[in-house]
Amino acid sequence: MTTSPDAPLIRRAEILAIGTELLLGETVDTNGARIAARLAEHGVDVYWSMRVGDNLTRIVEALEVGLARSDLIVTSGGLGPTDDDLTREAIAELVGETPHVDPELEGALRAFFERLGRTMPERNVKQAWTIPSCTPLDNPNGTAPGWFVRFSYKGSPRIIAALPGPPRELHPMLEEQLLPRLALPDAHLWTRTWKTSGIGESHVADLLGDVTLQSNPSVATYAREDGVHVRIAAKAEDAAQAEVLGRPMADRVFELLEAHVWGRDDEDLASLVIASLQRAGARLAVAERASAGRLAMTLAAADPERGALAGSVVGWRVDARDVLASSSDARLDSLTDVADEVKTFFAADAAIAVGELRPVDGEGGGVQVDVAVRDASGVSTETLSLPGRSGPWLRDRVVLLALDLLRRRLRDSR
Ligand code: AMP
Ligand code: MG
Repeated sequence: MTTSPDAPLIRRAEILAIGTELLLGETVDTNGARIAARLAEHGVDVYWSMRVGDNLTRIVEALEVGLARSDLIVTSGGLGPTDDDLTREAIAELVGETPHVDPELEGALRAFFERLGRTMPERNVKQAWTIPSCTPLDNPNGTAPGWFVRFSYKGSPRIIAALPGPPRELHPMLEEQLLPRLALPDAHLWTRTWKTSGIGESHVADLLGDVTLQSNPSVATYAREDGVHVRIAAKAEDAAQAEVLGRPMADRVFELLEAHVWGRDDEDLASLVIASLQRAGARLAVAERASAGRLAMTLAAADPERGALAGSVVGWRVDARDVLASSSDARLDSLTDVADEVKTFFAADAAIAVGELRPVDGEGGGVQVDVAVRDASGVSTETLSLPGRSGPWLRDRVVLLALDLLRRRLRDSR
């Protein structure tokens, strides 16, 4: 498939995800995310992404807003056979054309049902609708063809591409039918993400100063579960140029944050910990309470060969010493003992022990958890403080903090 020579260059696009369930929070708009990511990879600027319910007036309104400012609108959803599937009606109204049944599409639709040994419900006929400005997009994974509509809106060339809601139908249609039909800038994006830990987003912003204010390359911070990420992005006509533009800024950002950076791009803490264990030829034993096995699970996922893991224990029984201990020193001592015991038991070179969550009294509240790491060069303990009292995310946080402690310990003892 080739784009026709007069196809408008798509510089700016937006996304309209259609479906009341999206507004109610019952379905998460993953289609919008996928479409946005793929367009960005081709150098298209996506400045707006909207969600609208199954309501004709409001869909038309959203499309009108989009057409005034974007070359392309990609919609998702509302192509089903029922009365609340109104995407086709909205586009037809906007373009000022009347839908008619396309005999070829109708035949394909009836054949689809025949293959399933069923007769087509008459309400499905509307999935065979088309309008003069529309090129139907083939859907081998479902009954709803997409609509690729090219027209002129107030004197400017515009495209609306309507894709079906189910992701397993939308993804292939996006890749095989829509993207190849578009005249894309194919600008190249070079990105680098620095991942930090032990530092909040506003502190990162202070360290970065005014570099976050410029646009190409852009520097943006994101507070994530495993720490604050800083993403540097540069766009240019070819990949080499984009890198020339982006790399000096990435280096500069690294220098500003160096003390806090633990990784980059798609690196994760567990893989880095496993890699440093492997480099040192060391094996790790794990003992957990608060994290309830999640730490071992996360490490095991990063070490499919189990080359760096010696074994793990999840212990629920609270040691008598924990209960009797009145001072925090005694608490940490007993946790160090636990680390020593698992290290010996599994004949490992290093061990980590995660204690139990302890509510903190008084203002602010939250919980604390002790972690002890023992390796050839000694032992280190740390008390981690977390806001909030419960929820699975707390235990996931404990895992990330424990991994970060392990990472620092392994790095410093190299
Ligand atoms: P529809 O094409 O509107 O009938 O949508 C069919 C199904 O696709 C819905 O019931 C959802 O499960 C799914 N779906 C619709 N829109 C989205 C979206 N934006 N992101 C992810 N899934 C969606
Ligand atoms: Mg729907």
